[in-house]
Amino acid sequence: ETRLRFPPSPTGYLHIGGARTALYNWLYAKKTGGKLILRIEDTDTERSTSESIDGIIDGLTWLGIDWDEGPYFQTEFSDDHRAAAARLLASDHAYRCFCSKEELDAKREAAMTAKAHVGYDGTCRWLSREQSEARAAAGEPFVIRFKTPKRQGRIGYDDKVLGRIESSYEEIDDFVIVRSNGSPLYLLCNVVDDIRDRITHVIRGQDHMTNTIKQLLLYEALEAPVPVFAHMPLTLDTKKAKISKRSHGEIVAVQFYRDNGFIPWAFNNFLVLLGWSPGDDREIFSREELIEAFTLERINRSASIFNYRKGDPKFFTDPKAIAINEYYLRTMAVAELTPLVKNELITAGLWQEDWDHQLQPWFHATVDLIRSRFHTLKDFSSVGRAYFSDDYGIEDKAFRKNLAPYVDLQNLLPALAQAYRILDDFSLAETERLAREAADRAGVKPGVIINGMRTVVTGQLAGPSMFDILLALGRDKVVKRLNRTAD
Ligand code: GLU
Repeated sequence: ETRLRFPPSPTGYLHIGGARTALYNWLYAKKTGGKLILRIEDTDTERSTSESIDGIIDGLTWLGIDWDEGPYFQTEFSDDHRAAAARLLASDHAYRCFCSKEELDAKREAAMTAKAHVGYDGTCRWLSREQSEARAAAGEPFVIRFKTPKRQGRIGYDDKVLGRIESSYEEIDDFVIVRSNGSPLYLLCNVVDDIRDRITHVIRGQDHMTNTIKQLLLYEALEAPVPVFAHMPLTLDTKKAKISKRSHGEIVAVQFYRDNGFIPWAFNNFLVLLGWSPGDDREIFSREELIEAFTLERINRSASIFNYRKGDPKFFTDPKAIAINEYYLRTMAVAELTPLVKNELITAGLWQEDWDHQLQPWFHATVDLIRSRFHTLKDFSSVGRAYFSDDYGIEDKAFRKNLAPYVDLQNLLPALAQAYRILDDFSLAETERLAREAADRAGVKPGVIINGMRTVVTGQLAGPSMFDILLALGRDKVVKRLNRTAD
């Protein structure tokens, strides 16, 4: 059985990079019929917050990335971490280092001058067990360092994405695994947890590659099998800088997409393409198709570009994220879209309790009618407001183009309203026939009446076919709205 994990450090919001990591692990677990474990790596108690934990869990839940075990919290396993450190010390894979900060600084500087491979010269490596015990017993502060084997040759692994990755032993420092306050470091905790959780595959960012080399040594010393590693490319902006909240703002947070009307699966579809491609030109995948198509080998080696230009008002985020969202809005099954629209209308305060979408064919029909021009779910409550509320405004440019120049509409539209009110058959053909007759009688082009009607009835300059709109709104609303022109 494959066992994967997503181990975020809860020190901030769930960002695009983290969500992509979670998605790749989730996809691989699904593909292989394995398990995904959610582990919150909260050992950095100063920077970990409960808001961040909630945010990560909310973000994953919104995306539909579910896990089979957890969430586990790394702090609950500190006994395991300490036991592993003690075991490494006892088996002579680690040693106490009593060097002071000043000594370490001097050693690092000397190493730089001598162009040595490592920063620490290994002074305390040579202390006898008795000396080490005695100094510790006397209360002298120490850290615990891993005793990197003095071996010729290289240590390495076969990265599923990058191929063979190696480093020579002499380039690996005797890295610290336990701080002087007794708390084990991330590098060790992470391995101990992965061993305990029986993780078979580690999919994480390339920024962890130097950790991976050191962790191979820890697996060996702890006599545990080494998982398969796959390192994903970093996500950069168009100027090749790492994306971050500080320099790019909230658009790097998953929550931004939830709050701005993205469809969860559409956003996953965007995320997966940031660093992976199917090997052909497909870009749209259903959940099942993606699970089928996803392979570690097809993760990109080079950085993925998050295409976002700050300050471009047309694209408030990567245009591809928007394009994919539009595609789903346009094509997904209406029955899957209506609950999302309902949520949006609830958030916007437009939902009325007696509209249960499953019982209301008009809601279904209206969503289907207006969705094709929309970019996000937000559009249903903004440009689409008139379809769900009588309290809507008239777009300025629609007013200037379609109403202001034609004063006669103030009489023509209420007259048409009257005709619609008594019309036997309020159908597409009949509503259109009456509108054209009204135009004929008044000696204006049908477009004047139709555009005027559109502006009054929807507040918008553009939209679906006018007579479809009339039917979607229903006779009562149409009559009431057309009469408003006289006010
Ligand atoms: N807590 C680490 C991080 O968020 C996990 C890295 C890993 O996948 O091992 O970067």
